[in-house]
Amino acid sequence: MTDLAFVVQKHAARRLHYDFRLELDGVLKSWALARGPSLVAGERRLAVPVEDHRLDYAGFEGVIPAGSYGAGAVLVWDRGSWKPDGDAVASLAAGSLRFYLHGEKLTGAGRLVRMKAKREEHRTTWLLIKGLDAAARPRGTSDILVEQPLSVISTRAIEEVSAADDGLRSRE
Ligand code: MN
Repeated sequence: MTDLAFVVQKHAARRLHYDFRLELDGVLKSWALARGPSLVAGERRLAVPVEDHRLDYAGFEGVIPAGSYGAGAVLVWDRGSWKPDGDAVASLAAGSLRFYLHGEKLTGAGRLVRMKAKREEHRTTWLLIKGLDAAARPRGTSDILVEQPLSVISTRAIEEVSAADDGLRSRE
């Protein structure tokens, strides 16, 4: 099986969040993480499913223009390959996907677990949970989001991505 791509994009939309995307069947399955991923084993991060994205979106870094859905700066916070533990399609359908990441910031075991939807909720939410392994950090140690906030492809901060776009506009 060839390597599947994964990407985490930091997205300064109306609210800053991180989009966690896993390549599967020719698309990027995507979840929005309001608090971002964690390397602390067992720490649960809410993951709201969002629409599938095209594979080539994994390399997107720039600014989504004002007036468009998700307007704001996007940077590639992490990228690499991932491997499902078992059949990914069946696992997603069953609401529990265990996987291994090989990224520049996120590595090792993790899982996505679908929560039971409450009757009043319109959308299903998932939890992204780091597994206990050599890459896991103990609770209370430094937060990977704070420690390594920059783009892995351009080493820019989200403010620089945003400002670069403003620069382009002002030269138009
Ligand atoms: Mn987003």
